Amino acid sequence: MADAQIQSLLKKIPAVDRLLDEPSIMALLSRAPRDLVTGAVRDVLAEIREKTIHNGRSPEEKLDPPNLALKAVRLAESRLRPSLRRVVNATGTLIHTNLGRAPLSAAALRAIADIAVSYSNLEYDLQLGQRGKRHTHVEELLCRLTGAEAATVVNNNAGATLLALGALAAGKEAIVSRGELVEIGGSFRMPEVMATGGVVMREVGTTNKTHLRDYCQAIGPETALLLKVHTSNYRIVGFTEQVSSTDLVRLGRQKGIPVMEDLGSGMLLDLSCYGLPREPTVRETVEAGIDILTFSGDKLLGGPQAGIILGRREAVERIRHHPLARALRIDKLTLAGLEATLRHYLDREEALREIPILRMLAMAPEKTREKSERLLALVQKRGWDFQAEVIPESSRVGGGALPLTELPGFAVAVTPLGMSTALLAQRLRAAAPPVIGRIQENRLLFNPRTLAEGEEELVAASLNQVLGHKSPEENHQD
Ligand SMILES: *Cc1c(COP(=O)(O)O)cnc(C)c1O
Repeated sequence: MADAQIQSLLKKIPAVDRLLDEPSIMALLSRAPRDLVTGAVRDVLAEIREKTIHNGRSPEEKLDPPNLALKAVRLAESRLRPSLRRVVNATGTLIHTNLGRAPLSAAALRAIADIAVSYSNLEYDLQLGQRGKRHTHVEELLCRLTGAEAATVVNNNAGATLLALGALAAGKEAIVSRGELVEIGGSFRMPEVMATGGVVMREVGTTNKTHLRDYCQAIGPETALLLKVHTSNYRIVGFTEQVSSTDLVRLGRQKGIPVMEDLGSGMLLDLSCYGLPREPTVRETVEAGIDILTFSGDKLLGGPQAGIILGRREAVERIRHHPLARALRIDKLTLAGLEATLRHYLDREEALREIPILRMLAMAPEKTREKSERLLALVQKRGWDFQAEVIPESSRVGGGALPLTELPGFAVAVTPLGMSTALLAQRLRAAAPPVIGRIQENRLLFNPRTLAEGEEELVAASLNQVLGHKSPEENHQD
């Protein structure tokens, strides 16, 4: 197409000022920054101009100002909306790393809010009126809850592991079983973490079997650490053997070498009475004599993202004084949330009642049936164009914890009839708030185990909205 023709097409595109006079834009200007609104208008017009030049023909969009203004309003609104938003996790996966892992208790939230809006004694000793240390706010609690001599906390467990390895074994060797060289996801792979910490990895045993004698034979003048890693997101089953913490500690003591264990998730309570597998609690690992252990704050503990390091005083001191400790230090808001979460554990019943992750873990299958039926009742008011039923469905713990555990229960399965399951899932992700279910073949499952109190209503409202029907509030008014 000739330049002159393109020029005449471009002339049909309205000017920025023309769109700014549109009522929809004027309305937006009363509640949004002017620069953001004009920016959106410019971007909408620029895109149309570019497409016209590129395709050499009139754009597909209608060029009337009200239509273009509406496009600009939508663009501006998407830019006004926070990027990090609340979503409803109806996947049934409790510790969903992509969805932010553990939701916090009400007390943890209050503690964070309290510390966030004012000054605090973060690093100030109120008794002495002089400089204090930030880890003191949780050290005593952690020691009381686990029996450890000393404790400190950092940004996350990946950091805790890197720091502890660097502080205890940099420039020397750490011995680790080939069956425990885990990858947690992304770039957290044990061999690489050791290399980054300046530690020489000495692998022993085989993928499926490692014996105590393998560690014993590998010990030499360069050995600084015996390392055990919790295989938190996989299991090796069949003809297998790994050395227990107790046996490793005995060997370490004999040879005068410290033993470290990366517990990954770290449970403070034994929940086997709720059908969960019997795994050693943090206290039991401390009692086994492990010198340093590390675990996450936002996995089974149910607190904010943090890395907890505890064990023998001398080892914890070395870790605290490593330069990386400053680089990985915990933020005050996290510390406030972590302390409040840990306080719940002083009373087992309170922990089970107040910490959302524990409540979900302990939820009886019958309760998930009741919640499913409630949800179903909220979405099944009329003969809408989908089928929905309550089905048996188990939950997973997720987040690299208890990988083989299935928590039995029930869920609502929705089979859309007028659209694909993928489209229904996509529309629910765009709803307010976004609802994330689990796609299983041609149906979408909503597992109430991971829904907080009252979130059934939100799921139903979003479903009703997406399927083009009235929300439950509107139905009540009929
Ligand atoms: C999850 C996990 C980590 C990483 O912990 P983050 O808190 O996510 O940094 C490290 N080691 C093991 C064994 C884990 O399971």
